[in-house]
Amino acid sequence: MKEKSRLTEFDLIKHYFAIQVDQNKGVVLGIGDDCAILDIPLGYQLAVTTDTLVADVHFFDDVDPYLLGYKSLAVNLSDLAAMGAEPKWFSLAITLPDVDLAWLSKYTQGLFDLAKQHNVSLVGGDTTKGPLSITISAKGIVKSGRFLTRSGALEGDLIVVSGNIGDGAIGLALKRKQIKLPLPLSFIESLQKTEPRCKLGLLLTNKKHKASSCLDISDGLIQDLMHILTNSNCGASINIDQLPLSAPHQAMLALDKIAALDSAKYALFGGDDYELLFTISKENFEHLTSLNTDTQLTVIGEITTSKRAKVIFESEQNNEIAQLLNKNRHQAGWDHFAI
Ligand code: ADP
Ligand code: MG
Repeated sequence: MKEKSRLTEFDLIKHYFAIQVDQNKGVVLGIGDDCAILDIPLGYQLAVTTDTLVADVHFFDDVDPYLLGYKSLAVNLSDLAAMGAEPKWFSLAITLPDVDLAWLSKYTQGLFDLAKQHNVSLVGGDTTKGPLSITISAKGIVKSGRFLTRSGALEGDLIVVSGNIGDGAIGLALKRKQIKLPLPLSFIESLQKTEPRCKLGLLLTNKKHKASSCLDISDGLIQDLMHILTNSNCGASINIDQLPLSAPHQAMLALDKIAALDSAKYALFGGDDYELLFTISKENFEHLTSLNTDTQLTVIGEITTSKRAKVIFESEQNNEIAQLLNKNRHQAGWDHFAI
């Protein structure tokens, strides 16, 4: 049975949200007044982002509240990482159907575990009653003029992705019972748990190894790459042999539990990976790889100017699949449902 309580809104705020010691010196005033007051260091600009997660739309009702707490902040920090901003503060607007103390306790544990890892402080918010919905707004700082955008990709730049891609989409297909796999857990976990690439984002703002454009993959690699291509007015070639797939994904491929075409579709069109996708000159990439030892980076293609806002798929090992993907090209993207 759920443990219900008669705690007021203010008790909830005090016991569950205002519990984190402010770790950032920039917090002049945190939770408890009408606004938070924050100091931005000289020579920096403020980066602001907001993401909402709604029950039954963005997450399954039965999701572990710890993982939900973690993810609701992670998707926001991922946006800051994509701009090269260092996360500092966040606010939380939460709508709860009832006061379920066990749920709240797990939710805030997940939230604050990730907050601690990135040294970000909860500085305010709003608590209301209604269908479960979570809106977080994260704020970060970036050295003036050094922020990364979607619009600077140039001909000859490498297209690079962090981590592995496709597991989130496989996890979603499993949860929706569209597929069955012998070892589903790692995929479902990667759908529910996201590790924002803040350290990498920050590295990409450094002049010596600056990315020419960057974003985080939330809607699928190709759909998000199209934002870079449209904003930068260029085209791209993607080598599908190079797509970084997780060990469980590769194992399922080898065992024929996932077909090669489906595997490519999960990696190219699936969402929920929250990896960084960026373009960078070859020279800067060499500098970057000599410094970055933490995050797996994979070159998956190159920026071309010949075909604006278009992607051409290439492959030595899976030429048939590359041709199939190329054939199904639409003007602005791909009708991946038609393949
Ligand atoms: P107001 O009525 O002035 O909008 P509230 O009564 O809603 O203020 O909130 C009181 C204080 O608690 C404010 O500082 C607000 O930012 C903070 N707060 C409310 N809900 C949350 C929450 N879920 N997480 C963090 N801080 C919160
Ligand atoms: Mg007020």
